[in-house]
Amino acid sequence: MEKEKKRKNARCSFCGKELNGREPAVQGGDGAILCRECSRIAQGYFAEIEKEFPSKGKASAPIKLKKPKEIKRFLDEYVIGQEEAKKVLSVAVYNHYKRLNHVAAHQGEDVTEIEKSNIVMVGPTGTGKTLLVRSIARLLEVPFCIADATVLTEAGYVGEDVDSILSRLLQAADFDVAQAERGIIFIDEIDKIARKGSNPSITRDVSGEGVQQALLKLLEGTDALVPPQGGRKHPNAEMVKINTRHILFIGGGSFDGLERHIASRMNRTSIGYKKDDQRVAADKDESLLKYVSPQDLRSFGMIPELVGRFPVLAYLNELDADALRSILVEPKNALVRQYKQLFAMDGVDLEFDPEVYDFIVEKALEFNIGARGLRGIMEAMMNELMYELPSSEVKEYRVTLDYVKSHFGKSLSEKLKNS
Ligand code: ADP
Repeated sequence: MEKEKKRKNARCSFCGKELNGREPAVQGGDGAILCRECSRIAQGYFAEIEKEFPSKGKASAPIKLKKPKEIKRFLDEYVIGQEEAKKVLSVAVYNHYKRLNHVAAHQGEDVTEIEKSNIVMVGPTGTGKTLLVRSIARLLEVPFCIADATVLTEAGYVGEDVDSILSRLLQAADFDVAQAERGIIFIDEIDKIARKGSNPSITRDVSGEGVQQALLKLLEGTDALVPPQGGRKHPNAEMVKINTRHILFIGGGSFDGLERHIASRMNRTSIGYKKDDQRVAADKDESLLKYVSPQDLRSFGMIPELVGRFPVLAYLNELDADALRSILVEPKNALVRQYKQLFAMDGVDLEFDPEVYDFIVEKALEFNIGARGLRGIMEAMMNELMYELPSSEVKEYRVTLDYVKSHFGKSLSEKLKNS
C-alpha cells in the first residue's frame, strides 16, 4: 500500500468518487485506490467488530471466588454496621459466582441448573447500599455499573430505555462482552418503579409497571442488543449482543412506607385478623424492615414476577450517632484518613480532637443528612485550613472543637439545611 500517485481522473475503487488530485488517498498493489472517507468508514467498522468480538481469554478465566466470610471481612473494612445485610450479600454473591464458575467449567455437560440469586436491598437512603455493592464488585474484580431506576421508562417513551443499563455495563467492562455478561448491575431506587396505584389505569404506567416488565426480561435472561456507546438505539448503528443470564442484578431502595405493609401483614398473620396497631406499637423503636418478605414488596407495588426474580432480600438499618462517628474514622478510606493524607502530601501532620468528630456527627443528625452529608460538613470545615496551610511553615496542626465551632458559620448551616 502506498500513497496514491497524483494522476488525473483517479477514482476511489470503493465509492467511485472522483479524486481531485489534492485529496490524500492510498493505493493498493493492484492499483486500487481508497479515499479518505472510505478509509474512515472501514476503520470505524473494524473498531466495532473488535468491540463485538473481544478476546475471550480474559473472561474465560474463572472468577477469583472468595468465601462468604472473606467477602464479609472485606466489606467490614469499608462499611460500618449493617451486619445482616453484609452476611446475606456475602452468601448470595458467593453462591452466584460459584454457580457461574461451575457452569463455565462444565459447559456442554448435563449439570443441575442452579438458579441465579438476584438481590434486593431495602433500607433508608445513605445507609450503605451502593457502597456495599461497589465494594463487592471491586473485591471480585467484575464489571459493575449503577443504574438509576427513576430515569427509566418503557421502550419508545421519553426517558432511558431499560437496555441502556447494559450499555453502561459494557462500558464498565471496557467493551469486553464476555466480562460484561458476568458483571453486576446495581439498580438504585428500584422502589420508584413500583406500580402507581393498584387499579390498572387508562393511561399506561410507563415509568412504573412498564419498566418493571422490561426489567423482568433482563432478569430472566435474554439476548439484548445494545448500542455499544450507550444512548439511544439508532437503526443504522452496529448493535452488540449481550446475554443477561449470568449478570447479577442487585436492586436497592428506601421503600418509604414499606414498614406499614410489613406491620399490617404481621398483625394479620400472627393474630389471624388485623385488630389494631398494638403489636406494631411494641416494635416501634425497632425497624420492622428486618421482617421484610417478598409479599411486602408485592403489596408495595412491585409485580409478583419481578419480586420472584429477586429471591434474596437484605435490609439496612438507619445509621445512628455511633455508626456515623465510626464512618468518620474507621473505614479504610474514612474521611478523616483522607484529609490526613491530603495534608500529609503538603508535609503537614493533621490531628483532630475527638470532640470534633462528635460535633460533625451532631450536625449530620441535626440537618438529617446522614452519612452522605459527612463529607460536605468536613469539606466546609476544612476549607480555610486547606487554603492557608499549604503556604505556611506549619508542620503540625491540631483541629480543635473551638476552631470548628468558629468556622461553622450561619452560611454553612443554611447550605446544609438545603442540601
Ligand atoms: P445508599 O446507596 O444506601 O443510598 P450509599 O452507599 O450511597 O447509600 O452511601 C453514601 C455514602 O455514605 C457512602 O459513599 C459512604 O461514604 C457513606 N456511608 C453510608 N453508609 C455507610 C456505612 N454503613 N459505612 C460506611 N460508610 C457509609
